[in-house]
Amino acid sequence: MARKVLVLGEVRDGTLRNVSFEAIAAAKVVAEGGEVVAALIGANVKELAAEMIAYGADRVVVVEDEKLIHYTPDGFSQAIMAVIEAESPEGIIFGHTALGKDLSPKIAAKLQSGLVSDVTNIEVVGGNIVFTRPIYSGKAFEKKIVTEGLIFATVRPNNISALDRDEARTGEVSSLAVDIKDLRTIVQEVVRKASEGVDLSEAKVIVAGGRGVKSAEGFKPLQELAEVLGGAVGASRGACDAEYCDYSLQIGQTGKVVTPDLYIACGISGAIQHLAGMSNSKVIVAINKDPEANIFKVADYGIVGDLFEVVPLLTEEFKKL
Ligand code: FAD
Repeated sequence: MARKVLVLGEVRDGTLRNVSFEAIAAAKVVAEGGEVVAALIGANVKELAAEMIAYGADRVVVVEDEKLIHYTPDGFSQAIMAVIEAESPEGIIFGHTALGKDLSPKIAAKLQSGLVSDVTNIEVVGGNIVFTRPIYSGKAFEKKIVTEGLIFATVRPNNISALDRDEARTGEVSSLAVDIKDLRTIVQEVVRKASEGVDLSEAKVIVAGGRGVKSAEGFKPLQELAEVLGGAVGASRGACDAEYCDYSLQIGQTGKVVTPDLYIACGISGAIQHLAGMSNSKVIVAINKDPEANIFKVADYGIVGDLFEVVPLLTEEFKKL
């Protein structure tokens, strides 16, 4: 059954986040040959429409307003609801990002719709769209089918492969005027705590440090390894609580949930709350002095040793490649 599916493109610092392209790929599956319409919401976002089309969107609807320069629940709700009313999609896909996690339940409630959140895979099985999502902090997966009404889902970053970029793709770009009003929140300034460089939630490689790193200074070798691998630095809550790094780096049940291609855990014991945030990484490497450390139970490769010896050696070897 061909469907019209709406995708929200997520813009940060003037560029589209990768999850926007992954959402398009997911929408293609749900659309089953129907139309994928992308919504772009922000202040100066129209120029990004071509990028959404190159990654597979058939059409782009742009809502621009100075009041939408930063995400606010009120502003973005008004904008996306206007697009939904104009387009009447049969499916909606957002990224399972901080923005998507905040906005999607509000929109689902307004539409009186269900929501399949945190989807890691979508496939068509026996004529049904089957969504896979982790449950119990990643210890199990469940499969869901939407039996009636709108198909509304959020997709976890780094799980569904984006289509290949093709600049030859064409599609219509239109603007929708929306009167954004009565905002209860106004963002005056965004102060970033996280380090510059690769965004942790979208990083393909993460080098994470725990209490075993011992100090803020101890994170330096991890930063060097992450840099050589083009990755990001993350941390356990143990390291954050000990003030070795900022909480914005925390991975786990009460931190960020990440699924990079490669996760290198350095001096992290592997508490269940940490595993909840990283155990779905594609390849896990653990470096720990303690051969009994729990992290080795989820690791694909384990190195029993002192991280201050092992990490610089890895960095030197990767530099040679
Ligand atoms: P530790 O458990 O102290 O482990 C340090 C490890 O480093 C040890 O295994 C040790 O062998 C190793 N080590 C020491 N020196 C070296 C060296 N030189 N070289 C190699 N290895 C070395 N934790 C999270 O991470 N994320 C969360 O989101 C989270 N949420 C939580 C929510 C709740 C409600 C609760 C109760 C806890 C939560 N925690 C979370 C905390 C969690 O239970 C652990 O306390 C925490 O993950 C431990 O951090 P750690 O592994 O860095 O430290």
